[in-house]
Amino acid sequence: MLGQMMHRDLSIIEILKFAAENHSVSEVVSLRTEGDVHRYTYSDCLVRVSKLANAILNLGVKKGDRVATLAWNGYRHLELYYAISGVGAVCHTINPRLSAEQMLYILEHAGDSILFVDTTFVPIIEKLASKLPKNLVIIVMASSESMSNFSDEYLSYETLITESSQKIIWPELPENTAAGLCYTSGTTGNPKGALYSHRSTVLHALTISLNMGLFLGNGMKVLPVVPLFHVNAWGLPYAAPLTGTSLIFPGPNLDGASLFNLMDHENVNSAWGVPTVWLGLLEEIRNQGKAPSQFQNVVIGGSAAPKSMIEEFEGLGITVCHAWGMTEMSPVGTQGFLPQPMTKLLSSDEQILKKCNQGRRVFGVDLKIVDEKGSSLPHDGEASGELYVRGNAIISGYYKNEQSTEESFDKEGWFGTGDIASITSDGFLNIQDRAKDLIKSGGEWISSIDIENVVMGHPKVANCAVIAVSHPKWEERPLLVVVSNGNIRVTKQEIDDLLLGHIAKWQLPDAIEFLDALPLTATGKVSKLTLREMFANYKLT
Ligand code: ADP
Repeated sequence: MLGQMMHRDLSIIEILKFAAENHSVSEVVSLRTEGDVHRYTYSDCLVRVSKLANAILNLGVKKGDRVATLAWNGYRHLELYYAISGVGAVCHTINPRLSAEQMLYILEHAGDSILFVDTTFVPIIEKLASKLPKNLVIIVMASSESMSNFSDEYLSYETLITESSQKIIWPELPENTAAGLCYTSGTTGNPKGALYSHRSTVLHALTISLNMGLFLGNGMKVLPVVPLFHVNAWGLPYAAPLTGTSLIFPGPNLDGASLFNLMDHENVNSAWGVPTVWLGLLEEIRNQGKAPSQFQNVVIGGSAAPKSMIEEFEGLGITVCHAWGMTEMSPVGTQGFLPQPMTKLLSSDEQILKKCNQGRRVFGVDLKIVDEKGSSLPHDGEASGELYVRGNAIISGYYKNEQSTEESFDKEGWFGTGDIASITSDGFLNIQDRAKDLIKSGGEWISSIDIENVVMGHPKVANCAVIAVSHPKWEERPLLVVVSNGNIRVTKQEIDDLLLGHIAKWQLPDAIEFLDALPLTATGKVSKLTLREMFANYKLT
């Protein structure tokens, strides 16, 4: 028997309409590429989004068309998220840190008809001009006055908005209509597209608001350092308006001092981003001898949060939520807020150890780990295997990519993450490594994350990464790459002494190399692929 309830299609624009009505004074504050601070409310945002939607329709955009963005975190980018999906088109966010080759590949593959670009990224586009798809309309996200700096062929974003009507009847769209497109950063092979729908996006926003909503809500202020140009800034452009949280956008300035000043000035409560960003912020906190005034919570994800980082934040009274996810999962899969009984029963050291895990699944995500034959392994905290996921906000295939789709799902339709993990009986996920980053030594595996986690705690280490280098007898052995904190280099003996309390002797890195900085991926994570290339011919002595 079927239930007897109305069916209303889930729709992204409804989030902003709701926020404009119910959270009309919550703000969107943006450090602009113009250099100043822009602020307005969600009600103001909806007015401009309606005008922008009309402008996009006037440019001839039809349902299903892909419209690309190349922009920082700011109010104009937020407007594009809502206006493009609102008219039934697909908002394709492009990561400006991709190589020129990858950018051209995805523009072509997505079949974008329009590209909205922040002024700072116009030089990227100019360099690619001769190779860009023909008929691609380029719109610079700037006022008409600043257009004199750019080619006559480009249109002005602000002119389009000024000249458009605010009156719009938003189309009723089936909830499975595509709304957003994001390509993985393609650490191996070409980037692959995740095509989000209205339904998956709204459900993901609801999930984030509930499961990660401790610091979201009316009167709260959240700073997404995680970019709008990749993985939907972890769902914040939707969860923030839904909950009435003000969004504080950092624009292009992501160094520790700039983030500190913005957070302090705007009374930010919660900030979300990858570990590399927090290294900079923590350094600034140390320099100033204090944390930004209202800073209460940091969400760390994208790669493993080192124990020393969790300890330092918690020591400052800033709650750490260690989260895990993927582009293919919209992206949040697990989150690490500890519930009440745990915060009461566990000592602070035990809580830190819990937080080194990647947290527990959010509602709507199922997790399983499997052995090499694909058989499910127990969730006992011991067994480890490849992590598979399923859920309402997880891709069912890659956009126009049958081969990758075929390779990525098991017979029951679960998506293979490529991560190796264990899961405790009470649901805590522990990511041991990406399968391709594990070090295979004499038939045994060594987790690069485990070693990095400990080494990051050494006072002479500012940053580090562990990669596999080939070995004549053991096949692969771990090489530790260190960025020093200060002038005195850590010694192998010091590292071994520190590590031996945590890992077995045979797992110790064979050697240490020093770099001034670690190479980063397009998403700001340490690029192990580049490191492996740099040390491809490394001879262990
Ligand atoms: P890409 O970097 O290729 O764009 P994603 O941003 O989707 O891909 O990254 C997803 C991957 O990042 C996961 O499969 C996992 O390996 C890694 N990852 C994400 N969060 C964490 C975390 N908290 N701890 C360890 N690894 C993580």
